[in-house]
Amino acid sequence: MAQPPKPNLHPATIAAQAAGAVDPASGGVVPPVQFATTYLRDENYDLVNPDNVYLRSHNENTRVAERLLNALEGADETLIFPSGMAAIAAVFRTVPNGASVVVQSQIYWGTTKWIRDFCARRQIALHEVDASDLDAFAALCRAEKPDLCLIETPSNPWLRITDIAGAAAAAHEVGGTLVVDSTAASPVLSHPLEHGADIVMHSATKGINGHSDVLAGSLAIKDADAPRWQMIRDDRNEAGAVIGPMEAWLLARGMRTLPLRMREMSRNAMALAEFLSDHPQVEHVMYPGLPDHPGHALAAQQMHGGYGGLLSFVVKGGAEAALKAAGRLQLFHRATSLGGVESLVEHRHTIEPHTGIPEGLLRLSVGIEDVEDLGADLGQALGQ
Ligand code: PLP
Repeated sequence: MAQPPKPNLHPATIAAQAAGAVDPASGGVVPPVQFATTYLRDENYDLVNPDNVYLRSHNENTRVAERLLNALEGADETLIFPSGMAAIAAVFRTVPNGASVVVQSQIYWGTTKWIRDFCARRQIALHEVDASDLDAFAALCRAEKPDLCLIETPSNPWLRITDIAGAAAAAHEVGGTLVVDSTAASPVLSHPLEHGADIVMHSATKGINGHSDVLAGSLAIKDADAPRWQMIRDDRNEAGAVIGPMEAWLLARGMRTLPLRMREMSRNAMALAEFLSDHPQVEHVMYPGLPDHPGHALAAQQMHGGYGGLLSFVVKGGAEAALKAAGRLQLFHRATSLGGVESLVEHRHTIEPHTGIPEGLLRLSVGIEDVEDLGADLGQALGQ
């Protein structure tokens, strides 16, 4: 159903045409959903379609979504998982017992928590570091010789920017693999593989799907012959962390507008970041598009087409003032997650009170609504 995309096409073209996915059987311009869990053999016991035996290993909707994401990411191979956490778990399960790993501190709390528990169970030495400080990251790599390093850029919810090329060089110097969680950037705004990363991970639940109605994750690799990738592929196949056909179909459908959505979200977020920076009730805005953000120059160099829809700001007056402002918002939904077409607001300190998040911090996932409406909503909530 899916032809490999023609070379030299731009991302918006590849996405809009779902990397060539149509339905030759019916002539439909979109692929159908194939729900079958098992596939026919003929009277000679030959497979009717040699590519398809059983759903855990084979489904055309998953292949369509993987081919599209692979083309957007510029990867050698992409695998889709039933959640972002399942994708992270698939990578970490390749780390041998007794090895060491280096993981960026103050990233998505769910990642940190799962990795801490996993490493403790498997006698893996876990070293956490603020990877946006490249010298500290490189020194830790030299000292601990990690098998695997994980960075998240831009990070959630601090919006820290890590130098992907520098982190890749530091990991490679000691024989380690660099994995980049690029969820906040999406494959439209950043291509970590081009900067030297070995594997890119996404929570596809976020911008890639973009409609807050599919849970999914992905891993994409620069070299599909890498032994670690073979382990990941076999493990997904045999342990069965696979997405369902309907979710894969929805994911491919969502991705058709990904470049369009990321551009608009980035534009809206930039305008709101500027608005909030000038607001008397706001202490501090964290958004890599702002010239005074400590990672701005680096973000300008390793992101293209915008800085994403994720933005955090600290309200003057701590938790009480922040919760009051969140409570007054009428357009921003008060909900976790990010990357959907509708804007969300979250008070992260309520979710992770012991991780150093400022009590007054509100995290916004900026959607594609009219930016004047979003600005007016924030203005009235903060009390202009
Ligand atoms: N990585 C980041 C940066 C995230 O924000 C999230 C979820 O919020 C995840 C990973 C986990 O993804 P999922 O919720 O799809 O399992």
